[in-house]
Amino acid sequence: MEQPYLSIVVPVYNEESNLAPLMERLYPVVKATGRTFEILFTNDGSRDRSLEILRTLVDEYPGVKVIEFNGNFGQHMAILAAFEMSLGRIVITLDADLQNPPEEIPRLMTEIEKGYDVVGTIRQKRQDSLFRKLASRLVNITTNKMTGMKMSDYGCMLRAYHRNIIDNINRCGESTTFIPALAQTFASKPTEIEVSHAERAAGESKYSLYKLIRLNFDLMTGFSVVPLQLFALCGIITSVLSLAFAIFLLIRRFIVGAEVEGVFTLFAILFFFIGIIIMGIGIVGEYVGRIYQEVRKRPRFVVRRTYGFDE
Ligand code: UDP
Ligand code: MG
Repeated sequence: MEQPYLSIVVPVYNEESNLAPLMERLYPVVKATGRTFEILFTNDGSRDRSLEILRTLVDEYPGVKVIEFNGNFGQHMAILAAFEMSLGRIVITLDADLQNPPEEIPRLMTEIEKGYDVVGTIRQKRQDSLFRKLASRLVNITTNKMTGMKMSDYGCMLRAYHRNIIDNINRCGESTTFIPALAQTFASKPTEIEVSHAERAAGESKYSLYKLIRLNFDLMTGFSVVPLQLFALCGIITSVLSLAFAIFLLIRRFIVGAEVEGVFTLFAILFFFIGIIIMGIGIVGEYVGRIYQEVRKRPRFVVRRTYGFDE
């Protein structure tokens, strides 16, 4: 089979009104590069007409391929499935909602051709809610601190990867992961460029607050054990402080006698520590849960059918 130069990877979940406008902008850009290419869409269990539209795109545009999932396995699994089936020397990921302008693709390609193996992007004038922007900033700072990696914008999915990186990612087989961070661990020469960012063209974000929190837990626990270490540290500090407090009470007992007031203050302090303990059990649980998922070795995603691949 002929190896295309460029693979474009697009995860799709309920994006029926965005697919046609996306192709109208994406296809001319990719065509204009003059390179051989393939465009891989993963239909991540959409409940709207997305799959139907994608199948017409396969017939209409040469080079379009569709992977149909058996259900909703999430954006990152959708991208990983396409990575496994991609053939390009350069692989570029992109959202289906036109938040990432396809016109930026040639700039990403140029960076890979210069010799960089991962091209990250920083969203200029990001068009998202204030809450999302603030939360992202917090996630970016803590992730960099915890993992020792350096990336300005973990959330932006318009990214380019060299084939070597994709091959390494394909060897991982993790079932909970965060692709930009995973790629960064394999990168020997990463770079970042600024790209423009638009508001979602149609439909609404597929990430509820809950899904967003789950995803960020994947990012935090998947790439570092610092949360566990911080928690252990917290425990040590607490026990030292309470020992000091106990000694203080003992001495006080000899000098002024036993104390009776302040029972509720004691409750307040107690509840605070109980809170910390529960949080700690939760953090441990997050790791145990992930270990359990990996140990079970269930398939990460199930492909029902593919379209446009030469069988
Ligand atoms: N997506 C997906 N599966 C999901 C959630 C999202 O394939 O379970 C796709 C979605 O169709 C879009 C991309 O991932 O192409 C980014 O999703 P979205 O725009 O909703 O995220 P946001 O921009 O709000 O972070
Ligand atoms: Mg979006």
